[in-house]
Amino acid sequence: MLKSSDPQVYGAVKNEERRQQNGLEMIASENYVSEAVLEALGTVFTNKYSEGYPGKRYYGGQDFTDVVETLAIERAKKLFGAEHVNVQPHSGAPANMIAYSAVLEPGDKVLGMDLSHGGHLTHGHPVTLSAQVYNFVRYKTDKTGKIDYQALEKMAIKEKPKMILAGFSAYTRQLDYEKFAEIAKKVGAISMIDIAHIAGLIAGKAIPNPTPHFDIVTTTTHKTLRGPRGGMVMCKEKYAKAIDKATFPGFQGGPHMNNVAAKAVAFGEALRPEFKEYAKQVIRNAKILERELASHGFKLMFGGTDNHMVLVDVYGSKGVTGKEAEEALDKIGITINKNVIPDDPRSPLDPSGVRIGVPAITTRGMKEDEVRIIAKQINLVLSDIKNEKVYSSAKEAITTLCEEYPMPGIKEAASVK
Ligand SMILES: *Cc1c(COP(=O)(O)O)cnc(C)c1O
Repeated sequence: MLKSSDPQVYGAVKNEERRQQNGLEMIASENYVSEAVLEALGTVFTNKYSEGYPGKRYYGGQDFTDVVETLAIERAKKLFGAEHVNVQPHSGAPANMIAYSAVLEPGDKVLGMDLSHGGHLTHGHPVTLSAQVYNFVRYKTDKTGKIDYQALEKMAIKEKPKMILAGFSAYTRQLDYEKFAEIAKKVGAISMIDIAHIAGLIAGKAIPNPTPHFDIVTTTTHKTLRGPRGGMVMCKEKYAKAIDKATFPGFQGGPHMNNVAAKAVAFGEALRPEFKEYAKQVIRNAKILERELASHGFKLMFGGTDNHMVLVDVYGSKGVTGKEAEEALDKIGITINKNVIPDDPRSPLDPSGVRIGVPAITTRGMKEDEVRIIAKQINLVLSDIKNEKVYSSAKEAITTLCEEYPMPGIKEAASVK
């Protein structure tokens, strides 16, 4: 249908399918959804307005929107052990603004992780709305790459924040959830954690679950959780009303029900035993990547990884900037992103580091042996960045992997040439 009604968009879709199939996606925040999730996204639920919540809608005709939204909520509760779940936030950034606005007044103080130490833009970067509305103060990691919880506690006592915010986009170690909760309790702050990157690892029980320890938990649904692009807020019953009101009518209009349906499907998949195996393999693959890159002489920030990604100081280890590394790896079919390292002396446009993640390649079925091949090619290219000969053989090795491990989600992915 699309093919004949809009050949231009159809062409772009086919090209994107080819691009995704023929390259290795190693951007830590990306993943591939299943065919079932894609199918749910493309259903007639996209036609429906359903402002409100199951059983309490503003418009009629909600018998089936209630079914999918309730399924999504119940499955999320099971996955994370949450008391209350709102599956309507359109994405991770809105989910965070919704959570802030539910419990904070403009000008209130929030302790959040420093951006160059792994925090996210929506945790108070000056260019965002969050920073204009709230007063963010930052904590950092120490020389060993761990969060200095003593310093954090001192800071919390001095600053008296209304909220202590944990969570990250480019930090690789396990957080001490109990410690965060304890410090928040001590200073009377609300505790919030943004698990956008690690939600799938938590759902798959490969790393500890912070949900019992925090008042509010926000996440995306499209990173390690392998669902459609979207957001979600979970909280203690105490904050349920405030979160729901802040979502609608506070911040958003009608929920995107096709998206909510796809979230329900993805959460159903995450409840299956195979997903636990996936989450464990993600951790194993990241650990191998860490070890292999270290053995090739790369300097890993935070001393290594406990999750699905590594942050590599490519400038400090090979004299190659983050931007150069990103471009070089792009040429051999590996997509990654340049990234600042803690207190990076270089500019964010051409920083010292790159962030490399394994969730997507693990979804394609790659394991330790394949990660070793990938690490080897990364090293060959970044150690000899001017040598064109290295590129062609590296690209060949990567193309072979892509052919052996087709991406899920599209029919006959392997035949897309
Ligand atoms: C990705 C991410 C977000 C933003 O999610 P979007 O869906 O892109 O809006 C928020 N917080 C963290 C920690 C993230 O990693």
